[in-house]
Amino acid sequence: MNASPERKKRAASTTRRGYVNRNGQVVIRNTGLPGNEQGQSVYQMACSICGHVYGANGSDIHLRRCPMHDRGAPGLKYEQGIFGAGVRRLT
Ligand SMILES: [Zn+2]
Repeated sequence: MNASPERKKRAASTTRRGYVNRNGQVVIRNTGLPGNEQGQSVYQMACSICGHVYGANGSDIHLRRCPMHDRGAPGLKYEQGIFGAGVRRLT
């Protein structure tokens, strides 16, 4: 029997790929870029409702709302978009 490898139990692993929060926002990947809060990195998120793709701090994932249709905060900018250049808009 092994000791539990996961000593830290967070509420949920909200930063894993495929996580969907209560607002229907899906984690796509960690961009590896620093977020705008200390110690956070930017995660690429997608809205499962309207398809909008944007960046968010890891700590915000669980409460993120879609900036496009759900009046969430504007997405964070990140440069390495796999979906092309359209991710930089700030509305
Ligand atoms: Zn949306």
